[in-house]
Amino acid sequence: MVIARCSMSLLALLPAQGKKREESQTLQSILVSGDLDFVIGKDGTKIPVSYLVRKIFLLYFSALWCPLCRAFLLVLMEAYEKIKATDNAFEVIFISSDKNQTTFNHYFAQMPWLALPLGDERKKFLSHKFKVKEIPMLVVIGPTSQTVTTETMDLITEHGADTHPFTAEHLKKLEEKFKESTKGWPEKLKHPLHEEHELVPTQRIRYICDGCYEAGERWSYCCEECDFDLHLQCAIGEEEATKIELDEDGEAAREEAKEEKNAKGWVLSAAVLLFLFLFLFFFWMDVSELDL
Ligand SMILES: [Zn+2]
Ligand SMILES: [Zn+2]
Repeated sequence: MVIARCSMSLLALLPAQGKKREESQTLQSILVSGDLDFVIGKDGTKIPVSYLVRKIFLLYFSALWCPLCRAFLLVLMEAYEKIKATDNAFEVIFISSDKNQTTFNHYFAQMPWLALPLGDERKKFLSHKFKVKEIPMLVVIGPTSQTVTTETMDLITEHGADTHPFTAEHLKKLEEKFKESTKGWPEKLKHPLHEEHELVPTQRIRYICDGCYEAGERWSYCCEECDFDLHLQCAIGEEEATKIELDEDGEAAREEAKEEKNAKGWVLSAAVLLFLFLFLFFFWMDVSELDL
C-alpha cells in the first residue's frame, strides 16, 4: 500500500531531442497567453510575469485533496524560507488542481509564494508541456527561462534548501550523494511477498511498508509498476540490514578516527617545530653571551 509515488529516476534532466525546443523557451512562452500575463499574490493581487525575469522559479503542481501534496508542502515551505533568505531571485508558483475556489483559497492561504488563479487556462498548457501525470510535481525553471528538471521533489525532500541553486551540475552532485546513501544495499532483489517483479532501492517521501504496514520514508525497496514498498529491514531481513548500518557506522567512525589522527599529527608537528625554534633561540642566546 502506498501513499507516495515512486520516482522513475532521481533526475529527469532533459533528453537531447528536447534541447532545441528548450533553447527557444522564454518566460513568455511558458507563462503568457494573450491577456493572461500575470500571476497572483496572497490577496489576489496581479503580479506581472515580468517580475520573474532572471529569477529561478518552481512550478508547483499540487492540490489540497492530495495527502502527499499536503505532506510535501511543509518540506517545500521550509526550503523556500531558507532559500529566500539568501537569494531573493527565487520564487514558487502554485498551479492548483483544486476542485473549487474555497479549497484553493484555503490551501493557497498556507503558502508564502505566488499562484496561477484557479481555472486559469495556462494550467492545461503547462500540465501538457511538462507532462504532469501525478501530483505533487515540481518543475524548475532557471534564470534564463530554461527548464532545469521536472523531478525536484525527491531532491528537496532529501536536501531541502541545499538543492538551491538548482543548476544541472549541482543537481548531479546531489544525485551522487544520494547513491552514496544506499551503498552496501543490494542493487535489486526478489521478495516472497512480491514474487512477480524485482524490487529496487527507490527514493520516497513517505510510504507504508507492504511487509510490516508501518510508515517509512526516504528509501524503500520498490516495485514501481505495482506500487509495492518494503523497508530495507523488511526486504533483506533485520540481521542483514543491521550489518549494513553497522558497516556504514564503521566507515563513518573510521573516517572520524582518520581525521582525528591527522589533527593530532599536526599538533605534534607544530610542537616539534616550536621546540626546535626555542632550542635554536636559546642556543643562539648562549652563543651571543659567549661572544660578549
Ligand atoms: Zn516494513
Ligand atoms: Zn510489481
